[in-house]
Order: sequence, then C-alpha cells, then structure tokens
Amino acid sequence: MLKKRRVIIICSIASAVILTLAAAFFIVLSKAEPKLTLDCKQRQIEALSNYKKSDVKAEVTVLGMTFAIPTKTSGTVDTKKTGEYTLKHTAAFFGNSATVTQKVTVVDTTPPAINTEEENVTVDFISYPIDPDSVKIKFTATDAYDGDITAKVNKVIDKDKCYLSVIDTAGNETIKEINLVFDDGVRPTLTISGPTTIYIAAGGKYAEPGYSAKDNLDGDITNKVVVSGDVDFKKSGTYSILYQVTDNAGNTTKLTRKVVIYGSENANSYTDIKPNGKTVYLTFDDGPGAYTDTLLSHLKKYNVKATFFVTNQFPKYQNLIGKAHSEGHKIAVHTYSHQMYDKNDNIYGSLENFMKDFNKMQDVIEAQTGSTTNIMRFAGGTNNTISKSTCKGIMTELTKQMTAAGYFYFDWNVDSYDSRSYTNTQKVITETINQIKSKENAVVLMHDIHKKTVDAIPAIIEYCLNNGYTFRVLDENSPPVRYKPVN
Ligand SMILES: [Zn+2]
Repeated sequence: MLKKRRVIIICSIASAVILTLAAAFFIVLSKAEPKLTLDCKQRQIEALSNYKKSDVKAEVTVLGMTFAIPTKTSGTVDTKKTGEYTLKHTAAFFGNSATVTQKVTVVDTTPPAINTEEENVTVDFISYPIDPDSVKIKFTATDAYDGDITAKVNKVIDKDKCYLSVIDTAGNETIKEINLVFDDGVRPTLTISGPTTIYIAAGGKYAEPGYSAKDNLDGDITNKVVVSGDVDFKKSGTYSILYQVTDNAGNTTKLTRKVVIYGSENANSYTDIKPNGKTVYLTFDDGPGAYTDTLLSHLKKYNVKATFFVTNQFPKYQNLIGKAHSEGHKIAVHTYSHQMYDKNDNIYGSLENFMKDFNKMQDVIEAQTGSTTNIMRFAGGTNNTISKSTCKGIMTELTKQMTAAGYFYFDWNVDSYDSRSYTNTQKVITETINQIKSKENAVVLMHDIHKKTVDAIPAIIEYCLNNGYTFRVLDENSPPVRYKPVN
C-alpha cells in the first residue's frame, strides 16, 4: 500500500515537471520571432528578361539555436508588362510572423532597332528641299517590347544625310544615318582659260593659263580639277593636257588642251603628229613686201618652210629675200617687174623681154642668197591669157625653153583667193583649208603683199599641223603641179 502511494506521488511530480517544462518551452517558442532577409527591397528588371525571384531567407532562434523556416510570397511580376509590382514575403512561426514588402519595377530601357541594309542611297536630285518621300529606303523598325514599330519611323533629310529615327513607348530613341548620293545627272561645268591650243617653241616653258569648275550641287569645285598629261618640251609634236573634274554625284567632265611644241631640230617635219601622208606647199608670190617680215615670224614660230616666188615690186624689202633664204625657205623666181599690162614694156612682149626680166630677178636673188634658183612661177600662171594680146604662143614656147634650160616651173592647185578684193582673212582661211582637204599635194597660191593673207597664216598652219599635214618647199622633186599653156 505504501509502495503504491509512493509511485503515484512520483508520477504526479513527474507530470507536473513535464507540464511545467512543456509550458516553459512553449513560452520560449512563442517568443521566437522569425527573421526575414531579402537581397533587395527595390528591384528594377528589364521587360521580357528572365525573371528570377529574389532570394528570401527566414530563420528563428530558439534557445540559442538558429534554424531556417519556410517563406511564402504573395503577388506576381509580369515581365511582359512594364510597371510596378508589389511582392509580400512572409514567414510564420508559432503564431509569430514576419513580412517584407518588395517593389519590383519592370522597365523597358532597350532602344528599338532600325534594320536596313542601305548605307548609301542614290537620290534623283531635283531641288532643295528634298521631299523625304522621294528618298526610297527599305527599312523596318522593331522594338523588343513594342514589337514592330516600322510605322513610327520618322524620316528627315538634312543636306546629304537621311536620318531615320524611332522612339518606343518607353521613350527609347534610335537614330540611323544614311548617306545620300545625289544622282543629279548634271555634269559639272569645266572651263579652261586661254587658248585651247597653245603653241610653244621647243625648249620653252608652259604656263598654265588656268581653269575653273562649278557644279549645280557642289558649287565651286575648282580644287577638284585633276590636270594630267605629259609634254616633251624639247620635242616637236602635239600633246594633250587633260582636265578632269568629278562632282560628288560622280558626274565627270573632261576637257583637253592641246600643246603644240614646234621648232625642234627637224625642219619640214612634224612626223610626231600622226602624219596623214599629205603635203602642203605654201607658196607666196609678188613679194617681198610690207608684210613679209611678219609672215617670216609666223613661219618661224611653227617651224614651217615655204616657197617664195619673189619680185622686185617693192625694192626696199629685198633684204627679206636673204632673210627668208637664211631661215630655210625656198627662193624662186616670179618676175622682176610683174609688168603684164604695158604694151611697150611687157614681160610677155617677147621671149627676149621675158628673159631680161627673169635674169634681173635672178641677179637680185643671187645678191641676196649667194646663188640663183632653178624654181620659178610664171606671172599670171602658165595658163594666163593676157599674154595672147602681146605675143601669141609665148607661154607654150616659154614652158619648153625654160624646161630645156633646167628650170622647174610650178602653178598651184589651191587658190587662197587672196587676190580677190572681196575676200578677207577668214575667207582666205576657210577657202584654203577647204581646198587643201581634197589634195594629196596641195600647192597653195598666196601673196605675201596682202595683210589678210599673212594674218590668215597661223590658222591655216595650225589646222594643217593638227591634222597631220607635212609642209614642204617646192624643188625639182616636187609633184609638177602645172597648168597647160593656153597661149
Ligand atoms: Zn604674181
């Protein structure tokens, strides 16, 4: 009996102890506050990015021991939609709970993309301002958040650039720059100053007369002119200097200037200038006279040799016979007096009259040049009719006798018409050149006693030199350009 009571007492005490301990433990647990930790309370994430929930940890400490407890999150984040989201992270433990509020903002900071393969666009230029619609560019615009925003693209033209710009709903802007290449279709204007053909004595120097270039779009583009070409200043020939300018649209204008180098070692030879195989014999009758010296300087300038059928009509210029001879020209007899109209004193009055006049001229020539000549031209031409009235058959007889005496007489197959009063320098140039064109061997009748003739010489020579004609003087081997005597 005693034993049983003791057991009951022990049990009661034990129960009381256990209950007390349990109660105490419960009190301890109920006082344990969960602790929540969060990596960040304010989060900003890019729209459409991979969203990972924040790292939330919760733990409690009981009787000095810390252990993790589970957490719960309420609220969602939709990355497909920009905006502010609120998440609540909670942890509970024995009636105690802890909550942390987190703000998550979904933002769009990614600029849209403008997609085009074109970096340069060719534009037909009409005038400023350029209509943006006329600038055809293929493009699309896409935005990660907004999707296709091609329709929102704005096109602006500024000078030679086209700017494509687009702004997405979040305000992100993208600008793409495209170069405009103007196909204006209009070539620049290139101007060269000075003559288009420049004649320079061999060994001389070339001074660029200048040039300028303008373009309808680019304005003054003189500094873009490229000048090229080689000239051998020591060698006779025709050279080209090329002027070339290209505008920004790629339109090119070219011009050439010819440079003729004359007067190098080879007299009578312009073989550098693609010879055309044709020969021109310039012949001057009735001088020397007031314009002969100028003529000689023209001939010297171009290194062209001519044949002078001389007279004594202007005795004070006789020295020019010597000068012409010393400069390589051919001196030939025309007539001393050129008297064909006086009945009493006429070179065609008789054979004797003719020879007297002829020999007087030979004397002058010999005095001027040191020798006589075997080349001659009958005054009025072999086919003159004026001699009919003074001495019948004299021309037929003279051609025989003079030939037998070793003389070579020449007429002409090109008449410069310089004897005709109605002609002027331009007419002489045109007439002479036109007739030369149809001749293999042109023997040109001219008179150096006319100013218009001498003034016409540079243009005639330049035409011939530039077209491959060779100038020669008449001699015994020249083609016998002769008329048949009609008396
Ligand atoms: Zn004459």
